[in-house]
Amino acid sequence: MATNIPYIELANGVMIPQVGLGVFRMDDEQVLNSVKWAIESGYRHIDTASFYDNEEAVGKAIKESGIDRKYLFITTKVWNNIRGYDETIAQFNNSLQKLGLDYLDLYLIHWPAAGFEENWRAMEDLYKAGKIRAIGVSNFKAHHIEQLLKTATIAPMVDQIETHPYLQETDLHEYLQEKHIAHESWSPLGAGLNKVVDNPVIKELAEKYRKSPAQIILRWHIQRGEIVIPKSTHENRIKENIDLFDYHFDLTADEMTKIATLDSDQRVGADPDDEEFLEKSTTYTNQNNAK
Ligand code: NAP
Repeated sequence: MATNIPYIELANGVMIPQVGLGVFRMDDEQVLNSVKWAIESGYRHIDTASFYDNEEAVGKAIKESGIDRKYLFITTKVWNNIRGYDETIAQFNNSLQKLGLDYLDLYLIHWPAAGFEENWRAMEDLYKAGKIRAIGVSNFKAHHIEQLLKTATIAPMVDQIETHPYLQETDLHEYLQEKHIAHESWSPLGAGLNKVVDNPVIKELAEKYRKSPAQIILRWHIQRGEIVIPKSTHENRIKENIDLFDYHFDLTADEMTKIATLDSDQRVGADPDDEEFLEKSTTYTNQNNAK
């Protein structure tokens, strides 16, 4: 059992486990099984969103795990159809109720759709009231963060962005480091869509270290100082994705540089500057997204 998961200290001193389980596109049964296997394997960090339509299942899985709440780190997100102060508070309470929790570890604005300043104002108040331990954003580029900072009184502690060897976001990574905002990577394995796990550079390193290609990619993220939230519905992969911390498993500087050359600006998801996507997304509901 992997129990040696490192924690990253956020700007406000809150500690976040560097590896978590993502549950996007899981139905309720998959969530119940995957969260159970994850917790048994040593995960203490789960990443969901109101948009994934599976917060209730995550809540049920947490309850069934029997793990003391204080040892878990639970993230959810406010979707793009919710903008405005009161709406954000109501949505937060709804998520909390579905999760069966009385506080949240991390709450994120899912995308920088217009009006996110009002989400933030509500999140700052929830944070000050002790209902959330850390607040952050997702899919924010540097210019979105700069826009937010014009009205924010508290800076975001996390930015959760698409990152994998084919989309390394090096400039944004450096910007986040300068601002003391933790870089959390979504689709850290490239979501299976662009076959980053089959890349020959990754495969060669996998052979060298006797690890899987997925473990090489996750280790690369870890050594960049990112938080990762790989998703899997398979018990063996869930275990594999957290088994990254053996004393002999440490990519060299040359190997990190070699992986850096794979950057090719290939996205799995939308570009956060795609205004058409952002506008359309404000009309999506969260029904059946995970099904
Ligand atoms: P991902 O974690 O990069 O990849 C998941 C895919 O890789 C699945 O097809 C999974 O298949 C496969 N996989 C998992 N472990 C593997 C392994 N060890 N070897 C080979 N294949 C493996 O992609 P993601 O689910 O898109 O992203 C992860 C999490 O990020 C999500 O679940 C969600 O929590 C979050 N996310 C956030 C946003 C956002 O806008 N903030 C957007 C997307 C995702 P199986 O399930 O069949 O094992």
